[in-house]
Amino acid sequence: MARTDQFAKVLIDAPGLAPLDYRVPEEMLVAVGDLVLVTLGARRAVGLVVLLSSASDIEEKRLKRIQSVLKFSTPVSSEWLSLTRFAATYYLRAWGESALPAIPAALRRTPTPRQEKRIEGIRAVMPAADPDAAPAAPAPALNAEQEAAAAAVLGAEGFRAWLLFGVTGSGKTEVYLRLIEETLARDPEAQALLLVPEINLTPQLVGRVRARFPREAVAALNSEFTDRERAASWLSAHEGQARILVGTRMAIFASFRRLRLILVDEEHDLSYKAGDGLRYSARDLAVWRASKLACPVVLGSATPSLESWAKAKSGGYGLLRLSRRAVEKAELPEVELTPPPEKGASGQITEYSRRAIEACLESGRQALVFLNRRGYSPVLSCPACDWVSTCARCSAFTVYHKREKALICHHCGWRRPVPEACPGCGNVDILPRGTGTERIEEELEVLFPGKRVLRIDRDTASAKNAAEEAFRKVHRGEVDILVGTQMVAKGHDFQKIGLVLVLNPDAQILSPSTRARERLFATLMQVAGRAGRAGTRGRVLIQTRFPEDTLFTALAEQDYVKFAEDTLDERRESGCVPYVHQALLTAEADMLSTALAFLEDAAKSAMALGRDDVLVYDPVPMPLVRLMNRERGQLLVESVNRMSLHRFLVDWERNLRGLGHAGGLSWVIEVDPLET
Ligand code: ADP
Ligand code: ZN
Ligand code: ZN
Repeated sequence: MARTDQFAKVLIDAPGLAPLDYRVPEEMLVAVGDLVLVTLGARRAVGLVVLLSSASDIEEKRLKRIQSVLKFSTPVSSEWLSLTRFAATYYLRAWGESALPAIPAALRRTPTPRQEKRIEGIRAVMPAADPDAAPAAPAPALNAEQEAAAAAVLGAEGFRAWLLFGVTGSGKTEVYLRLIEETLARDPEAQALLLVPEINLTPQLVGRVRARFPREAVAALNSEFTDRERAASWLSAHEGQARILVGTRMAIFASFRRLRLILVDEEHDLSYKAGDGLRYSARDLAVWRASKLACPVVLGSATPSLESWAKAKSGGYGLLRLSRRAVEKAELPEVELTPPPEKGASGQITEYSRRAIEACLESGRQALVFLNRRGYSPVLSCPACDWVSTCARCSAFTVYHKREKALICHHCGWRRPVPEACPGCGNVDILPRGTGTERIEEELEVLFPGKRVLRIDRDTASAKNAAEEAFRKVHRGEVDILVGTQMVAKGHDFQKIGLVLVLNPDAQILSPSTRARERLFATLMQVAGRAGRAGTRGRVLIQTRFPEDTLFTALAEQDYVKFAEDTLDERRESGCVPYVHQALLTAEADMLSTALAFLEDAAKSAMALGRDDVLVYDPVPMPLVRLMNRERGQLLVESVNRMSLHRFLVDWERNLRGLGHAGGLSWVIEVDPLET
């Protein structure tokens, strides 16, 4: 039989590199979607075949041959290839940069003579399905709203995106489980993907899914996995053994045999957006992927992102509501706004708040004190001169960590011991200014002698499993007062918390960032949701100077819709996201002037493209101008039309690559940035 496919286009993971042509040796069997070993200049590289053809634009004798095919599994599908290609195009990267990193490194390794054994070893890491497993704990009968939500999703044909808007504890997870159950039951090969935020809760949720589906292989994928574990889960989904994959944002790039349902839990969560490399949004890609697969995608949240809420309002997404907590008598908490301490007060907890905590403890329940700032105090300062503790590498204060006796930069990790005297004037009375969780812990220990205070934040929970152990202590009732940051806000189903006290949310209220308020609202709704989970009504106390602010009035009424509508009105009037689409060019160099000079040239290049419907802002220094000794500037571009913006970006990016610039300068364009 004559062979027609003598040439292959092969992707390699390198910035800006287009697919390269290689010759397929006579005797070699290669398919699109195979991993192959090739040479690139002097080095060997693993590449991914994306096209086979009978002709090449490059002269045949100049082409190198594919060395061998990596027998890692069956080839990846065309569906997966289009996903990675779309992601690369949309986020302005080379295709190889999205595709290759999406395959676990253990599968991309240069093949050894014992390749098959090695892959078998990886497969064995994944627990096999047990068709004879004992029947699971029965699912609770869904309530009317849950039924209606599930029925709507299951009743729609083909692609449809849904926003499942349900207060914390309203039973969203039960809806996901029902959707998975039905999807798997309808089609013996169907698979489901459940995306979850990057927090310590994945193991708990995976456990819940496995308990519900004991006969299915449930794979998990998250960034804390070893490469072998990742590879095992990836293969299992790719080959179709795992019918359910639960994973963090990277799981959107998993390969499936027959994916028929995508669920995105806590869709507003920031961890769905990648912070470096290919800066993708897993949530947005989930919607795109479902549309290509012609299957449903459900985005769930108690506080949806305003992007998603706007889409649900305009009919782009179907809106499903769960308006009550699922467990009877678990009412929503009562929220109360109270003034912070007077200026000059010795502590952060007012007498009013102290009494509230006391009353809560007396009733035999636990209290949670929330402050979104770790460390003892955000800065040390000298009252005798102007000295403040700053990072040597960043334009930022260093945070005082009392127990560690260190000043630490929270942006870059730079640390030094606390000086004995002011480095500026020698004064020995340098003082902590402001308050972090460590200082609150100390204050609580003084206010409530004999009570068990536990702090949970990234400092106390840095060791693996330390957070889990701390949470177990809370669950077992071995803690009276819990103090913590964001970490305690998310997802944990605490049963005994009677009071939540929120300290100093005002700093974020005053922030100029567009999304700061949206985030604060979501965080506080979530924190408030920790109170009164089972049986008794919880109380939430917020110490703020702005009780009239809509953010707090909406919060007091636990009214997301009010907050969302108000905020969207403002955003529409001022032409902000989601009513415009944005991209952010950032440049960094040893000196700010170098970065800004490049951005000036970039702005000129943008103007020269002459697109009326794209707005180009002035280059400005970034809010945190110096990070790790690099000085940074940014340039924002936006358009009301996503397609116009994209077409502009493609041309602009090409021109930027041609722009000359000083050595040591680097730049990147982020599409749909969260920080502008
Ligand atoms: P969410 O994901 O919205 O926070 P969950 O699905 O975790 O909510 O449900 C919260 C609690 O209510 C869980 O303990 C769950 O088992 C329970 N629950 C959910 N739906 C029902 C139901 N229909 N009947 C009884 N209990 C339910
Ligand atoms: Zn001094
Ligand atoms: Zn720093």
